[in-house]
Amino acid sequence: MCAESLVAVLIGPGGVGKGTLARRLVDRDPRLWLSRSWTTRPPRSGERGDEYVFVERETFERAIDEGRFLEWAQFQGNLYGTPVPSGEAEVDVLLEIETQGAIQVRAQQPDAVIFLIEPPSPEHLESRLRGRGDSDDHVRRRLASAPVELSAGRDLADFVIVNDDVERAAGEIISILEGLRRHRRAGKEDGHHG
Ligand code: 5GP
Repeated sequence: MCAESLVAVLIGPGGVGKGTLARRLVDRDPRLWLSRSWTTRPPRSGERGDEYVFVERETFERAIDEGRFLEWAQFQGNLYGTPVPSGEAEVDVLLEIETQGAIQVRAQQPDAVIFLIEPPSPEHLESRLRGRGDSDDHVRRRLASAPVELSAGRDLADFVIVNDDVERAAGEIISILEGLRRHRRAGKEDGHHG
């Protein structure tokens, strides 16, 4: 990440498909680098081991004290955090996080571009959450928090993307990012001439 890097943030309720969308985005856009979060949540059955760095609470809390997170938040009893991106590589950083974390990112990086990912309908959210194999109780809690996350997300987001189809949604985000990159390049060139 270097001074000219874009920071793109995906937020939205659990089950909306942010993880799948984030992976499609990095597959389709070679400039994007997906940050891997730390969490104290145990892995779900069938979850790929590289989705997160899974750690004990004590390890996570030590990393907080050492200032190793760009942002972190407690979400439904577990801690989640984005490690401070390292290096000077020319990449744009993609984060897939919840709203409290996005508020911290915005405070530190006012230029961050925040995308709220919305489900096409509440039924989509429920069927995706159930399909993940989470417990009933867990599904109920996630569904109950969705309206709050959506309304907080709308206040925060620069763009609202409906995840009706992952390829279409990814294409929409990529064209917005391309536009922002062009805008930045144009701004830089103006700066050189002026
Ligand atoms: P899940 O347990 O379903 O994987 O994630 C729960 C929520 O935590 C999701 O909204 C996800 O986007 C968010 N999340 C994942 N990683 C991070 C992170 O590093 N920081 C924050 N603040 N939220 C995260």
